[in-house]
This record gives sequence, structure tokens and C-alpha cells, in this order.
Amino acid sequence: MKLDDTDRPLQLGEGRISGYLSIAFGTLSVLAVLCFMFPDYLTTPSLRVGYDLVLMRKLLAAGMVFSAGFGVLTFVLNRQKRLGALGILLTVLAAYLGGSSVEVGPRYDAPGFIGLDWFILDLLASAALFTALEKTVAHRRDQPILRSDFWHDGRYFIVNHLAIGIFLFMSVKAMPSLFSWTVNAGLQEWFGSLPGVVQFVAILVTADLMEYATHRAMHEVPALWRFHAVHHSVERMDWMAGSRLHFLEPLVTRTVVMLPAFVLGASDTPLLCYIVWAGFQAGLVHSNFGLEFGPLKYLVATPLFHHWHHSSEKEAIDTNYAAHLPMIDRLFGTYHMPRDRWPKKYGVAGAPLPKGMLRQFLYPFQRRQPPPTV
Ligand SMILES: [Zn+2]
Ligand SMILES: [Zn+2]
Repeated sequence: MKLDDTDRPLQLGEGRISGYLSIAFGTLSVLAVLCFMFPDYLTTPSLRVGYDLVLMRKLLAAGMVFSAGFGVLTFVLNRQKRLGALGILLTVLAAYLGGSSVEVGPRYDAPGFIGLDWFILDLLASAALFTALEKTVAHRRDQPILRSDFWHDGRYFIVNHLAIGIFLFMSVKAMPSLFSWTVNAGLQEWFGSLPGVVQFVAILVTADLMEYATHRAMHEVPALWRFHAVHHSVERMDWMAGSRLHFLEPLVTRTVVMLPAFVLGASDTPLLCYIVWAGFQAGLVHSNFGLEFGPLKYLVATPLFHHWHHSSEKEAIDTNYAAHLPMIDRLFGTYHMPRDRWPKKYGVAGAPLPKGMLRQFLYPFQRRQPPPTV
């Protein structure tokens, strides 16, 4: 069903902004109530232990007020009533399930979990931060926030975030059994005694070396490229576009990238700092944020650096594989970042990928389809 009447950029006073905000806050309120009802299945264990329940209930109440308020505003503006009605309906559903006074559900011994809470927190934080950055200093000023394919990539955001619990669960289970032979007690004791900042930098460098090798292999081995081509099918870059990944790709890359931290026996705090930084940088480098960061752009991966990686222009093919440190690409001869010039075109050359998330999931397994050439 198409809720919106138009593909035009959002404008104030039309009721579309308030309608979408009402739906977004309504959906998040329903999901938050479900997290309260089924904590063991829907929340991330490492986050769960740190929650202030009183604060969480206040945030949920605020979410419901926003959803209802924006829904009513949509009606007042007398446009896009379907958007407003859906937002209000979601608020009513959240209230019906218990709202902000919902009881915390019984504890089960769940065998795995879906990180719904991580999804909600990450979506709220990313949407607020990156939308503000993209509005303040846009690289492409004519590109609306809700550009074409935004909802397509939004579905990837949902699937890849909800699957993170399964990924983490599998890699936590698989790593000790598969790689226990790599563990050296002396090495881990030494590494664990290092200051947190040193550990963080060591995790960043080793993770990015692994990322470089895996990423380059995905470009150079044809069978792997078919999976990674899904990520490169993005034609308009923004913070949401980075979520377009074949779901098997993060399963492999996250395990490989975290392997050095596992072998070194990194402490919890530097490890958590790395995970938060990696998540932020993944959003940033894909975003439509036009700041070039001066000399800092040679030290850390920025939008300019990764936008060139996504370019379909000949000069940029198979360059800029690093996720954090452009220095690694310099070291291996794959660095490409012209001064003050951004790529003009993004995407894959040759045969285009099929449209739709399910078709893109199946695409690498369909041998008869010709692969894209970039
Ligand atoms: Zn790539
Ligand atoms: Zn990318």
C-alpha cells in the first residue's frame, strides 16, 4: 500500500513530515512496549543490565505523546490523513498493550534474542544525528531525506539490525569452539593489562586490517562479489544506504573483524567503545554529509573517502577498502581520494541488480544471472 501521495521532497505544512513522524514514534512505542513484555527474547542482554526502568518508562510515554501529537497535527493540517490515522492507531495499540505502565514480562531462559531495544536506540540516535548533519552541511543539497529507495534500505536496516542478536549469539558460540586453539593465556593477560586507549587503538587497527582483507576479497573473488554487489547497488548515498548489505555479509565480516579482539582477549570497555565507534563511522561514511574534515580526512575514513569506494567511475574502481583508516589503503596501493572532488555517479556498472530485498537476497545464488562489472 502506498501511504503517501507523492515522491516530492518533504515540505513544511503539507502534513507529510508530521504524518511520518507520527508513524515512526507510534511504531517505536509499540516495539518498546513489546520489549517490556518479553525482555528475554527481545532485548540485548548486555544492554538490559544497564537500563533505568523509570527513565525507560518516561521515554516510552514521551514517544506515545509525540506519536499522538504529530498524528493530531496531521489532521489539523487537513492533509495526508492516512498517515496521521496510522500513527494514531499505533499509539492506541501501544496504550492497549499497557503503554508506559506495562508490566515487565516473566523471565525465560531464552536460547537466543532479537535485539529490538538495540534497533530502537540505534534508529532513534542515527536518524536524529545523521538527519541533522545531512541537513546542516549536505553534500547533495537537492537530495531529499526520503529519497527514492529510502524505504528499501530501511527494510535492510530493520533486518540487519534485528539479526544482530542472532549474529552475536552465533559468533559468541562459534568463536570459542572454532578458535580456542588461538587463545594464549599469557598474551591475553598482557593485553588486558594495557591501558584502555591502547587496547581501543589496537582493536581498531587489527579489525580494519581484517576488514581490508575481507572487503578486498569480496571485490576480487567473483563468487563473493555477487554478495557484496548488493551493497554497491546503492545509487544515492546517505546514512541509511549503508544498511543495504546481503544478510550473509555481516555474518561473515563481523566474525572475521572481531577475531583479533577475541584472540587478544580485549577488555569489555575498549571493545564496547570500538563497537559504538564502528557503528557511528559506518553511518557517517555513507551519509550525505558534505564536510571534508580538513587534514583529518587522511587519518580517519570520512564520507568523501567511502563515497569514492561506491563510485562507478573508472578511476575509483576497487579502491578505498578500509572502514576506519585510509592509511591501510595507502599501504596496499588502493587509495583514491582526489582533493576537493566528489564522485559524480554511484552504483554498479553492467547488468543491474534485481529490485526488491528478497530478490537481492536470492541473487548471489542464481548462477545464470550475469554479474555486474563494478
Ligand atoms: Zn565494497
Ligand atoms: Zn559502503
